[in-house]
Amino acid sequence: MAHPTEWKGSYYDGQSLIPQHVTLTVEAVSLNLHFADGTTRIWPYQELRQTQGRYSGEEVRFERGTGIGETLVIPSANILLAIHEQEGSHAGHFHHPGTRRTRVYWTVLAALASIPIIYGIFTWGIPWLARPITSAIPLSWEIQLGQFIQQEVTTGTPVCNNPKLIHAVESIMTALTDPIDTLPYRFQVTVVDSSVVNAMAAPGGYVLVFRGLLQDTASPEEFAGVLAHEIQHVLLQHTMHLIVRHVSMAFVIAALTGDASGMVSYALQAAQTLQTLSYSRDAEDQADEQGFQLLQRAGINPEGMLTFFAKLGKEQPADGVLRYLSTHPATQDRLAHLKALLPPASTTYQAFPFQAEWSDINTLCESPLKASS
Ligand SMILES: [Zn+2]
Repeated sequence: MAHPTEWKGSYYDGQSLIPQHVTLTVEAVSLNLHFADGTTRIWPYQELRQTQGRYSGEEVRFERGTGIGETLVIPSANILLAIHEQEGSHAGHFHHPGTRRTRVYWTVLAALASIPIIYGIFTWGIPWLARPITSAIPLSWEIQLGQFIQQEVTTGTPVCNNPKLIHAVESIMTALTDPIDTLPYRFQVTVVDSSVVNAMAAPGGYVLVFRGLLQDTASPEEFAGVLAHEIQHVLLQHTMHLIVRHVSMAFVIAALTGDASGMVSYALQAAQTLQTLSYSRDAEDQADEQGFQLLQRAGINPEGMLTFFAKLGKEQPADGVLRYLSTHPATQDRLAHLKALLPPASTTYQAFPFQAEWSDINTLCESPLKASS
């Protein structure tokens, strides 16, 4: 089978949450990472762990080093075939996409064979076990983890604190969450000063929006659309569920036993998980649908969510900065689904006091000095 000679990927150094765009070449015994500054790093296959990309449609994720090591995310799973085709690649521990169908069977068999079940969750991601564990995690623990994740993301990267911008962003968040009767925690939004087009919701209601995404929104309604979608990921427990499925076992055991002492060390791992892994398509549909309901309850025109995702789908990904698009593909199915949810055109909505100024407000974070960061 003929494969491309070069592959695209995003590299995370284990310190910062901002990805670096890399070009990859598949060599006999190593994966070579070519960085934009001209440097090359050699990653021997034997030193890599594959932590994602076992199921069709998933991105491939390799990790290297102990603890919170370096991470590489590759959109095309075909790279696994290219690696397996290298003579003597010693890549037997990587998943072979050709065996996808049998893997589920072996997963079930292994669980039945009484291998400690929890091990199965982290090795194969058995969804039906991750769910009850997620529900058993105490709320206070969830909030604390969210706090640590927010701190991790904002430690190496500055936060936007222009008062006018913060006021606008917070009033949109308040408009969305006020009508919810039984809110388990207070939602808050932080704007991270980075050109990456991304947004993510951490547990406990900590929503992180990157400046790149904020600047891409043409109206407060488009921004509210992204927030409503992210809020629902948290309320529907998609966020904790994703973390439970993908971070180390020790984290979950600590959570279940109420031990919060080791949480800091898991926060970066959890933050990386949230930034690089995708929710399932079902979870995305649910967040879209219920996000739409949230917007309507708040009296905000939900069409903004549709126009934003449609626009994102038309943009050209440059240097991996369009992170949100890779976790939220603007497929025809998805856009058609959103369109079908639209209320009649005659419905009236509230306007935000800063409606007309939005295109000025959403750029307030960027100072000329930081424009290229
Ligand atoms: Zn989503």
